[in-house]
Amino acid sequence: MSVNESLLRNCYHPANASHIELHAQLTDEQYALLEKICPAGVFQRQANGQISVHFQGCLECGCCRRVAGDEAITTWRFPPSGAGIHLRYG
Ligand code: SF4
Repeated sequence: MSVNESLLRNCYHPANASHIELHAQLTDEQYALLEKICPAGVFQRQANGQISVHFQGCLECGCCRRVAGDEAITTWRFPPSGAGIHLRYG
């Protein structure tokens, strides 16, 4: 099973607001790192150079928080109870 096929099995209940917030001024290297490490493609650079946070697809794995650190991510918390990802196996 491919990663995309596995991701399609998950069930998402998006919250109304993002549980991830980035610093306003990130370097190109920080943007590139976030785009590269997120397995769900949550961080996507727009044509104007800004990065969008598609938090609705977050796997809550914490990789971005651990790798990019507080220098890039100002807030990372789990979505409110009942929201976020519901993992399905098998
Ligand atoms: S917690 Fe994981 S899935 Fe969510 S944005 Fe960070 S790296 Fe991506």
